[in-house]
Amino acid sequence: MEKYVIGIDLGGTKVEACLLDTDRNLLARKRALVEASKGIDRVIEVIENIIIEGSEGKQYAAVGIGTPGTYIPSEDRIYGSPHTPVYETPGMIKRLRERLAVPLLIENDANCLALAEFFASCKGKYHHVMAVILGTGFGSGLILDDKLYRGSKGGGGEIGHTSIDIDGRLCECGRRGCVEAYLSGPSLSRRFFELSGKKMKPKEIYNLYCQGDPMAVRLFEESCKIMGEVFANAINIFDLDAIILGGGVSNLPLWYEKVPAYIEKSLFGVPRGKMPLIKAKLGDSAGVFGAAFLALRELGYMDF
Ligand SMILES: [Zn+2]
Repeated sequence: MEKYVIGIDLGGTKVEACLLDTDRNLLARKRALVEASKGIDRVIEVIENIIIEGSEGKQYAAVGIGTPGTYIPSEDRIYGSPHTPVYETPGMIKRLRERLAVPLLIENDANCLALAEFFASCKGKYHHVMAVILGTGFGSGLILDDKLYRGSKGGGGEIGHTSIDIDGRLCECGRRGCVEAYLSGPSLSRRFFELSGKKMKPKEIYNLYCQGDPMAVRLFEESCKIMGEVFANAINIFDLDAIILGGGVSNLPLWYEKVPAYIEKSLFGVPRGKMPLIKAKLGDSAGVFGAAFLALRELGYMDF
């Protein structure tokens, strides 16, 4: 009998479900508002409903959920989800497990994106890859030796909160100089406001950059340099084959035109030539696919 799995991308405002068969074909997809502010009971109800809708009456054999924060298996709990603290509620995952009565897998959303994008564009070609989400934050996930790297607690592969300047900008996490405080969408807008006094979205600033606006040029030149340094650090530490760039702010062409040269300048040790900076292929579908892959792995249909 054909088996099916459900993937869930549980974000801060939206939740999305997809139904895949064991050959990773997409059979259904549903979205809803998560209403996290209404509390844990409502969150659980919304997740249950989206699973029922997304499954379209088919019997699913496992469910994977991708969400912000770090899932710690020994406690069966999510930590480090500052924008959606309700997901950190002790017992939330247990309650979901009891209601679903099939295997339930939880993973960080950037790790889910990394998985899905790795299978979409790198599998078989590259084996050591970092995938970055450049959007409202700066998150990342790591594939080493074709395996998703979780580290000792499950928080492995996260580069957004490493510091590039110990006296630098204050990050939302409370530390100074984090990459996210420079390169996320809101951070780009904030830095441009400081330079120009104009409140604009990254895409609008990019349009000014294309017209040669000196402040926009300054902002993006500096940002490409920072991004090149950050990616070179990751490559130097993990000996990576490639970097994948996704998320809402990843569509600006200048990242792919300018950043590789900055990466090349800061590589250390091993001769590598030009490092591939790969544009993510799946758009905002990556997270939900990666979550479903967790379920397929649990059932023995995928290996990573
Ligand atoms: Zn930070």
